[in-house]
Amino acid sequence: MIKTDIIIIGAGPVGLFTIFEAGLMKLRCHVIDAIPQIGGQLKEIYPKKPIYDIPGFPSILAGDLIDNLEKQAEPFQPGFTLGERAENIEKKEDGSFIVTTSEGTQHHAPTVIIAGGLGSFEPRKPLIEGLEKFEKKGVEYMVREPESFLDKRVFISGGGDSALDWAIYFAENSTLPVGLVHRSDMFRAHKDSVARVYQLQEKGKIELYTHSEVKNIGGNDALETIELHQKDREPRTISVDYWLPLFGLSPKLGPIGNWGLEIEKNAIKVNHSLDYQTNIPGVFAVGDVNTYPGKLKLILCGFHEATLAVQTCYKIINPDKKFTMKYTTVQGIQGFEKVV
Ligand SMILES: Cc1cc2nc3c(=O)[nH]c(=O)nc-3n(C[C@H](O)[C@H](O)[C@H](O)COP(=O)(O)OP(=O)(O)OC[C@H]3O[C@@H](n4cnc5c(N)ncnc54)[C@H](O)[C@@H]3O)c2cc1C
Repeated sequence: MIKTDIIIIGAGPVGLFTIFEAGLMKLRCHVIDAIPQIGGQLKEIYPKKPIYDIPGFPSILAGDLIDNLEKQAEPFQPGFTLGERAENIEKKEDGSFIVTTSEGTQHHAPTVIIAGGLGSFEPRKPLIEGLEKFEKKGVEYMVREPESFLDKRVFISGGGDSALDWAIYFAENSTLPVGLVHRSDMFRAHKDSVARVYQLQEKGKIELYTHSEVKNIGGNDALETIELHQKDREPRTISVDYWLPLFGLSPKLGPIGNWGLEIEKNAIKVNHSLDYQTNIPGVFAVGDVNTYPGKLKLILCGFHEATLAVQTCYKIINPDKKFTMKYTTVQGIQGFEKVV
C-alpha cells in the first residue's frame, strides 16, 4: 500500500503543478496516470507546438513546459504510478481514501485531487477478431518497458508519431529488424521521423510495409503470427513475438464517472467559489476535468485551481495547525528528503 498526503490522479500539467504547490505546504504527493509517461495532452497530443499563454513565457513548446514542471516538482520527491488507470475509490471510516488502479496497486491518503483532464487516454484498438485473447500476451498498445521488446521479432502498425518513434527506437537498439505496417504511404508523424524511417529501411533495420494492414492474428497461449495484407499481393503469415497496433489514444472519463461524483457534460462539478472540492468531501477536481460556471479549459486556470485546492487539503490533514503563506522569494524552496 502506497501512503501519501495527496493522491493526484493525472500527470498532466495541472497534476504536476499540484505537486509543487502541495510541496510548499509540506504535503507529499503520489501521482497516478493511465499512460506510461507524464505530461497529459501536452506530451501525448502536441509536444512540439508552442504555447503562448503561459504567464512569463512569451512562447514555450508544450513538451518543454512539461519538462520544466517536472523539474519544478522534483524537490518535493513525488511518487508515480504510471501506466495504470485509477479504477476505484473507497472512503474509509476515518475519512481517508484508498484508490486502486487497473493493475491492483493501492494508494492510501487523506485527500485526493483529480487532475484527469479529458479522462484517461485509452488506446484505439483495431477491429480484429479474437484480439482480446492476445492482449498483454504479444499484443501491446503502449510501450511501458522498451527493453523487454529488444532482440524480439516486433511488428508495429500505425503512421503517427508514436508508431514511428518506437519503430526508430527498436531499429536502433535491437539486434533484429522491426516491421512497420501502415495503411498508406503518407505518414502523420514529424517529417524528421519519416526521413529517419526511410534511412533505417535502407540499412535493413526497418521492414517497411506501406498500403498494408494486419487483418488477422494467431497463436496458442500467446501471439505467434500476424496476417499481413499488402496492396496487390497475396496475404501472408509472419511469425512475431509482439505486435504493437499504435493507432493513437482517445480520452475517456472512464471509471471516475462511476465514483459517485456529480458529473455535468462529462466533467466533475466543483465548488468554484472556494476550493474546487467535489460533492465528496476530501476529493477535489482541478484542470480540464472539472466544470463550474465560467470554466475555461486552459492550463493557467488549472494552475490556479490546484493552488487553492491544496490549501483545503492542508486543513484536512492538519486540522489543528494554521498555515501562514509565505512568498517563495522569502522562504525559498525547502524540498523533502528522498524516500528510499
Ligand atoms: C492541440 C491542443 C492545443 C492546446 N493549446 C493550449 C494553449 O495554447 N494554452 C492552454 O492553456 N491550453 C491549451 N490546450 C488545452 C490544454 O492542453 C489543457 O487545458 C491541459 O492539458 C489540461 O491539463 P490537465 O492536467 O488538466 O489534463 P491533461 O493534460 O488532459 O492530463 C490528464 C491526465 O490524466 C490522466 N487520467 C485521466 N483519468 C485517469 C484515470 N482514471 N487514471 C489515471 N490517469 C488518468 C490522463 O491519462 C492524462 O495524462 C490545448 C489542447 C490541445 C489538444
